[in-house]
Amino acid sequence: MQVYDSTQAARFTQLLTQREAELRAILAATGDLADAAPDMTPREVVDFKDLAIEETQAVVDEAKAEHAGVELQQILAARHRLADHTYGQCLDCGDAIDLRRLTALPATAFCTACQSIHEQEHLAATRR
Ligand SMILES: [Zn+2]
Repeated sequence: MQVYDSTQAARFTQLLTQREAELRAILAATGDLADAAPDMTPREVVDFKDLAIEETQAVVDEAKAEHAGVELQQILAARHRLADHTYGQCLDCGDAIDLRRLTALPATAFCTACQSIHEQEHLAATRR
């Protein structure tokens, strides 16, 4: 298994930066920019009565924005780990994460084994 090492920092910084830009674009398009990206241009003041008319679209956008917001937090956390030289290590067990997994999911904080445990826990929680 190939693992991440600091010689690949530039490559992963680029992957994370690229994905961050995509997510910020989604958040900007869905109007949730102010919460997720306080360092960017504030959105214009909007009339919330007008927004209610577009409710159906807003629900879709909200789900999309929420998902993008969560992923953006993961990206930012991953960039911190890159700076801290802890990137590529599983947050749960401390093992090195497979490089192929990191390449596909640069923001991932868990190895495949720990991720599947988390997903099972999540499934169990949503079934309740
Ligand atoms: Zn793990």
